[in-house]
Amino acid sequence: MRIVFIGPPGAGKGTQAVRVAQSLNVPQMSTGEVLREARSQGDKLGIEAGTYLDAGQLVPDETVVQLVADRLSAVDCGAGYLFDGFPRTLNQAEQLDRLLANHGAPLDAAIEFVIPQDELFERLWKRGRSDDKEETIRKRLQSYADLTTPLAAYYGKRNLLGQVDAVGTQDEVFDRLMAALSKLRGTS
Ligand code: AMP
Repeated sequence: MRIVFIGPPGAGKGTQAVRVAQSLNVPQMSTGEVLREARSQGDKLGIEAGTYLDAGQLVPDETVVQLVADRLSAVDCGAGYLFDGFPRTLNQAEQLDRLLANHGAPLDAAIEFVIPQDELFERLWKRGRSDDKEETIRKRLQSYADLTTPLAAYYGKRNLLGQVDAVGTQDEVFDRLMAALSKLRGTS
């Protein structure tokens, strides 16, 4: 199954992406994770991405699209995949569609994690990652609202959207995700 996870920072996408990918036996890729790893290694990508990560801004579309294109061409993506935190802009979503057209199989599901803003702020504040500072958190939530929320309509129009309530225990959210995915699988 070919899946993307969309959701604001702090919604629990990363944790759930690992669980869902394991359960469906597909590879998972978090663009945020790859960028943080690159930064800690100090390579060219990491140096470029670091400035954006620290500022709570999105890394340029072409950089992340390239990461995804490389990942998609790996043999293990044949049976499906789960992208966590990608796409994050309409332009990225359109470029992903173009890439997938070349790979012969369109997406099956775009899952949006739904969660109130005040709950998010508290979660991020507690998490304490290096980009979880007050000013950066605010910027990331704003950039989500401005640039990423339009994706719900983009996928909704094509009946690919599953909206999942991300408030609850990890097990509760996992069960909701699996239910949303099986509903979408049934319609694709
Ligand atoms: P995440 O771990 O998904 O919260 O991502 C952490 C940071 O990585 C974001 O605040 C962005 O700076 C960058 N990032 C991750 N995914 C993307 C993406 N699809 N497009 C642009 N920037 C991204």
